[in-house]
Order: sequence, then structure tokens, then C-alpha cells
Amino acid sequence: MKIVRTVADLRAQVRDWKAAGERVALIPTMGALHEGHLSLIKLGQVHAQRTVASIFVNPRQFAPHEDFDSYPRGEARDVELLAEVGCDLLFAPNVAEMYAPGFSTAIEVSGVSEPLEGAARPQFFGGVATVVTKLLIQAQAQVALFGEKDYQQLQVIKRVVRDLDLPVEIIGAPTARAPDGLALSSRNAYLSAEERAAAVALPTALKTAAQAVAAGGRVDEAEAAGKAALTAAGFGRIDYFDVREAGDLSRLGPGPISGANARILVAAWLGRTRLIDNMAV
Ligand code: AMP
Repeated sequence: MKIVRTVADLRAQVRDWKAAGERVALIPTMGALHEGHLSLIKLGQVHAQRTVASIFVNPRQFAPHEDFDSYPRGEARDVELLAEVGCDLLFAPNVAEMYAPGFSTAIEVSGVSEPLEGAARPQFFGGVATVVTKLLIQAQAQVALFGEKDYQQLQVIKRVVRDLDLPVEIIGAPTARAPDGLALSSRNAYLSAEERAAAVALPTALKTAAQAVAAGGRVDEAEAAGKAALTAAGFGRIDYFDVREAGDLSRLGPGPISGANARILVAAWLGRTRLIDNMAV
């Protein structure tokens, strides 16, 4: 697998592939790769002849008090994993390559980026939308893949691509989970053994709520029961446990919903680790 660190080298390689008639897929990541990331590469290989992964821990999407400095990093292992699954190219720029001195442009998305993660982490989606827009323009791939694990992020990116007419197809990939159901995440590495055991309550609570709402139960009751189950399992602060419209993430309920395309999204703290997950109803 080839590794490039500049936009010019990335563009030159992608240009050559496209000139040879090959379709190119981009898979943006922040590294600390796991099977979830690798499932995106594999899905990319279904949609394109060439896959480009990027690894960039984007300082602009972390607030000053968040885990930018401690975020897990390990490029050597990431490179091995990417090569093993047959990824063709890694784009791993440094901060100076992504943000030239005087950088002063931002992509701000209203509406879908405002509730949930947007409310809990006000800096987050501006940083994500800006860096993903840059990566899409830099790579000029025909396809880009993002995980449903970060469901609201996927909706925000789809909005940016529609609104800015970016010539790329955005594909969402299902969430890869551990055998007990916990969504794979780079941040799971922060969990102690005890916390890791308790974390299974997150997908379990989502599943229970999804079944209750699908069976005609009240939204407010499913949300309250989900929060209570997390608290009982040892979770601390629950930022949200919400049943939402699956496309624009507007509120649903409080009563039963029939025929709505609904998604349940959760963010909750286990010790010092913030976990997010979501499930379709
Ligand atoms: P990250 O490195 O956490 O920024 O994630 C990079 C990409 O991988 C994003 O599109 C995520 O949604 C996706 N991703 C992360 N975890 C998973 C997972 N468990 N299953 C599927 N995709 C995932």
C-alpha cells in the first residue's frame, strides 16, 4: 500500500487511476483502526476498484477540554491493517498540510447538525463538516463511505454534499459490533474491564427501546426506560437517549409513532468515556 502525505501526491495518484477508467472510493478515519473501519474499506472495494483511506485526527472537531491529545494513535499498526485488507492508498497528512497558516474558512450546517451531538458538542460538526469537505475536494473520489455508527455525522455529510453539489456519492455502512453487541469504537480502548462489561447495556437498551416503539409503545416511555436501564448498568451522565426521525433527526413522539422512519440515538458516559450508538426502529 502506498502512503502519501500531501494533497498534491494524493491528487496525482487518484488522477492516474481515474484516467485509467478506475472508480475510486475514499474512507476518511481518525486512525486507531478496528474492524468497523476495515468493514468500510471492504465495502468500498465493492463500489470501486481503488480504495483510499485517510487518517487525520482533526483538531478542529475537538473542544479544548476534549480528548484530542489522548486520542489513540498508532500509524504503524493502522498501516498493517489497511495493507492486509487490500487498501490501495493511505493519505495521512499532518495538521499543517490540512490547515495552512491563516486558515479561516468553515463549513457550518444548520438543522440536522443542531440537536444531539450538536447540542452536546457545539464545536463538533463544524469541525467535521469542514474537514470532510476538504477531504472530499482533495481526493476527488467518486464514492465516499461513512459508518452508521456515527449516524448524525452521516446525515450531516449527506446534507453538505447535496447543498454544495459535491460530485461524490455518499454511502453509509452498517455498524460493526463486538460479539456482545457493543459498537466497535476507537474510544472503547479507554474502558476498564469492568466498564467494558457494563457497556453492553448500551446496545441492549437501544434494542429494547426499538422493539417497544416498533410494537406501538410510547416514545417518552421507551426513552425513559432506556435511560433508566443505562443508569442501572452504571452509566453516569446520559447526554441523550432519543427517538428521532431517521432523515432530519427531528423529534418524534411523545406518544406512539406509526409509519414513521425512526432512529434511536444515544450518547452516555461510562466513567470518563463518552460512548455513542444508534439503532433503527
Ligand atoms: P473515526 O475514525 O471514529 O472518525 O471513524 C471513521 C469512520 O469509520 C466513520 O465513518 C465512522 O462512522 C466509521 N466507523 C467507526 N466505527 C464504526 C463501526 N463500529 N462500524 C462501522 N463504521 C464505523
